Amino acid sequence: MGDITNYAIPFFLITLLAELSISLYGKRKFYTSNDTFASLSMGIGSIVASLFSKGIKFTVFTFLYTYRIIDIPMMWWGFVLILIADDFAYYWFHRMSHRMRYFWASHVVHHSSQKYNLSTALRQTWTGEISGSFMFYAWMPLVGFEPIWILTAQSISLIYQYWIHTEMIGKLPRWIEFIFNTPSHHRVHHGSDLKYLDMNYAGILIIWDRMFGTFIKETETPRYGLVQNINTYNPVRIAFIEWGSVIKDVWRAPGLYNKIQYVFGPPGWSHDGSTLTTDEMKADAEKPHKTTSPT
Ligand SMILES: [Zn+2]
Ligand SMILES: [Zn+2]
Repeated sequence: MGDITNYAIPFFLITLLAELSISLYGKRKFYTSNDTFASLSMGIGSIVASLFSKGIKFTVFTFLYTYRIIDIPMMWWGFVLILIADDFAYYWFHRMSHRMRYFWASHVVHHSSQKYNLSTALRQTWTGEISGSFMFYAWMPLVGFEPIWILTAQSISLIYQYWIHTEMIGKLPRWIEFIFNTPSHHRVHHGSDLKYLDMNYAGILIIWDRMFGTFIKETETPRYGLVQNINTYNPVRIAFIEWGSVIKDVWRAPGLYNKIQYVFGPPGWSHDGSTLTTDEMKADAEKPHKTTSPT
C-alpha cells in the first residue's frame, strides 16, 4: 500500500474529459482553457513536489512510530479506524489552513480558481507538505497507526475529494448529505460569499463540521474563488504569490508583534485595517449602520 493516488490518475482524466466535453458542447460553460491549464499544471507540480516531501514525511512518521502507544493491526476495523482518524486530522489541518496565514499561503492555491469543476480538484499546492502540514497527522503514528497506512488513508481522502468538485451533481439523498462531504457541501467551501467563507472543512465526513460548528448548507449558488482574486494563470505565480505577500507584509509591518501576526495570524489580518479577516468581515456585516468595508 502507501500512496495510491497515482493509480487514480486514469479515472481522473477520463471523468475530467467527460465533464469537459459536456461543458464544450452543452449550454453551461464551466471550463475555460487557461483556467484548466493552470489547474492541471498545479496538479502536475504538486506530484513533483510530493516526490521530495513524501520522503521527509515518511521518515518523521517512521521515527514517531517507534514511540507508539499500541499496535493497531490493519484488519478491517483497523482500516476503518485509520480512515476516521485521518479524516479527523484532515478536518483540523484544513481548518487551520484557512485560519492561519502560514498554512493559507499554501492552501490558497486550491481556492484560486473562479471556476468549479473536476480540474479544480487537481489544483493543488506545491508547498503544503514542505511547510509542515503533515504535522497535523503526527499524532497518528504515535497512537499506533503504521506510517505506510497513514499515507494510504491520506491518498484515499484525496481521491474521495476529487469527485465532489463538480457542479453537475446537485443534492444527493438526505442521509448521504448528512454523513458525507458532497459536491453541494464542498461548493460552499469554495464560495467567496461572506456567509460561506471558512465553512465546510470536511474531507470525507461532513460530520466534523456539524460537530464543531462550521457547517453551512448550500442555499444559493456560490461565487467561486477568493475574496480578492489573484487574476493569474501562471502556475509558478499561483504557487508562490501568497508567500510573496507574506514576506512583503512582514517586511513592511512596524514592530515584532505585527510581523508575527502577518505570518501566524488569520488571513486578511492587517495592523492598519486595510484588509480584514473573515471574522472581522462577518462582524462588520452584522453592524446595521455601517457600510461594508472594501476588502
Ligand atoms: Zn479549503
Ligand atoms: Zn476543494
